[in-house]
Amino acid sequence: MNIIMFGAPGAGKGTQAERLVAGRGLVQLSTGDMLRAAIAAGTDLGLRAKDIMDRGDLVSDDIILGMIAARMDDDDCANGVILDGFPRTVAQAHALDEMLDSKGLALDCVIEIKVDEAALFARIENRAAETGGARSDDNADTLRKRLAVYHENTAPLLPYYAGKGVLKTVDGMNSIDEVASQIDRILG
Ligand code: AMP
Repeated sequence: MNIIMFGAPGAGKGTQAERLVAGRGLVQLSTGDMLRAAIAAGTDLGLRAKDIMDRGDLVSDDIILGMIAARMDDDDCANGVILDGFPRTVAQAHALDEMLDSKGLALDCVIEIKVDEAALFARIENRAAETGGARSDDNADTLRKRLAVYHENTAPLLPYYAGKGVLKTVDGMNSIDEVASQIDRILG
């Protein structure tokens, strides 16, 4: 089963993806986590990505697609993946379609976690406090930019996936457990 976790920054994509990893044995592919690992490792890619991420902009499609394509070739991805934070642009969505097609795989479901954006500022503030500021993009200024980027580049994917008949929406303002139950009901 191949699933996309979709939603604005702070909607809870990563949290819900982790629940599915534990519950269904799927592999979570988070492009944000991959980029943060590259930054921590001090690679060229990490160095280039850091400023872009700190500004709240998107890393280039080429870099992201290279990372995802390499990871999707790993054996552990054959049973299904949860894509978390990818795709974020129309070009990425088209490239994902081609990637899945070429492997004879299908996209089963896109789960949109819908949230009230005003609440995201408090959530990001909490995450920064809980993680001791581990993510340098967890602040109000960068969140404002990330939300603008989400609306401009990523939200247009919603009608794209609705048109394919794979889009399901859950209410991300509920508790983590309730959102997880809604997702479980959708996935069956
Ligand atoms: P995330 O952890 O998903 O919130 O991503 C953190 C940051 O990494 C984003 O604000 C972008 O700068 C970058 N990033 C993560 N995934 C992507 C993607 N699919 N396309 C472009 N940039 C990305």
